[in-house]
Amino acid sequence: MNDYYKKFEKPIVFAVKHKNLITRLNSRSGGIFTAISDYVLDDGGVVYGCILDEKFNAVHIRADNKLERDKMMGSKYIQSNIGDTLKKVRLDLDAGKKVLFTGTSCQVAGLLKFIGESNQNLLCVDIVCHGVPSSKVLHKYIRWQEKKVGSPCVGIDFRNKKDYGWSSHIETLVFANGTKISSEVFKNLFYGHQCLRPACYKCPFKNIVHPGDITIADYWGIDKAAPGFNDNKGVSLVLINNKFGNEIFEKLKNIEYKKCRIEDSMQPPLEAPFPEPKNRSKFWTDFERKSFNYLAARYGGNSFLSRTKHTIKKIFVKFLK
Ligand SMILES: Cc1cc2nc3c(=O)[nH]c(=O)nc-3n(C[C@H](O)[C@H](O)[C@H](O)COP(=O)(O)OP(=O)(O)OC[C@H]3O[C@@H](n4cnc5c(N)ncnc54)[C@H](O)[C@@H]3O)c2cc1C
Ligand code: SF4
Repeated sequence: MNDYYKKFEKPIVFAVKHKNLITRLNSRSGGIFTAISDYVLDDGGVVYGCILDEKFNAVHIRADNKLERDKMMGSKYIQSNIGDTLKKVRLDLDAGKKVLFTGTSCQVAGLLKFIGESNQNLLCVDIVCHGVPSSKVLHKYIRWQEKKVGSPCVGIDFRNKKDYGWSSHIETLVFANGTKISSEVFKNLFYGHQCLRPACYKCPFKNIVHPGDITIADYWGIDKAAPGFNDNKGVSLVLINNKFGNEIFEKLKNIEYKKCRIEDSMQPPLEAPFPEPKNRSKFWTDFERKSFNYLAARYGGNSFLSRTKHTIKKIFVKFLK
């Protein structure tokens, strides 16, 4: 493999914040995706990434402008349907276009296998990935909330950073009648791991060697790695994996960054896959046979006790603001 694309033994590590606060608040972590995709779009290129469609399916789309690209901002914690994206990327590369592809590490690895060899016009950015839940779980959850509210859901923020800060993990659903519901039920189902796709329990990318030229994540452990850099509005962990990724990083605009050590930047998904829970098949049997009320209480932390704790936490967070 060309030295330019060869992976470093250890990535170069940066903590990054986008200088535009609105951009950062609309992004999951520090807004590094926007900085990288701005560079590619300004250079006449196209961007591939994941959006949530009107039926709450995560799908990959192609964007050749910032308005379309903005729909890719924010994490959608379900499996994204890649559709015919790989073929479209090849057509763009054949036409001499510069392409940024973003997605989970397995999606990036799949694209690189499909393309066959490194291409100077193809920049790949993968996300450090906890795992992806089946979209069936999200859809059943939304229908449950819709029934309670009596109005269709029109939007979901999987991790509402604007109201609760970067470090908390609370999802907010917005309904057609104007109601807003903040909850941790879907988050708890996600972290329970029963609803992850089977491949995630054997994920080969749970280490510091990643298929992307650049890998991006939430910078958990930032206070130790770069004291004073965290303002609870989001910091991206950026792993530069080869010379190509480094050259692109040096060209990025509107970012504030600090060089860090990989040893201070580790988090569980950089170490090993999460094991398959023993009760995974029981969860899926319950999912098919029982009501969502039951699932939420049994697996989603929505028992009476957890609901009370959640209410106290919400009041506490609002009080501290
Ligand atoms: C399913 C999932 C699990 C994650 N797990 C972790 C984790 O364990 N630890 C951690 O530190 N970070 C994790 N992240 C990454 C993190 O949440 C941010 O994606 C990352 O920090 C980039 O944020 P940003 O501020 O640069 O930009 P944002 O604007 O928030 O980034 C959006 C980027 O995420 C991509 N994206 C969004 N949803 C999906 C999806 N479902 N499938 C594929 N690509 C998607 C978009 O294409 C775009 O490139 C996860 C993200 C997802 C989607
Ligand atoms: S955990 Fe691994 S296998 Fe699962 S979606 Fe993420 S990168 Fe792919």
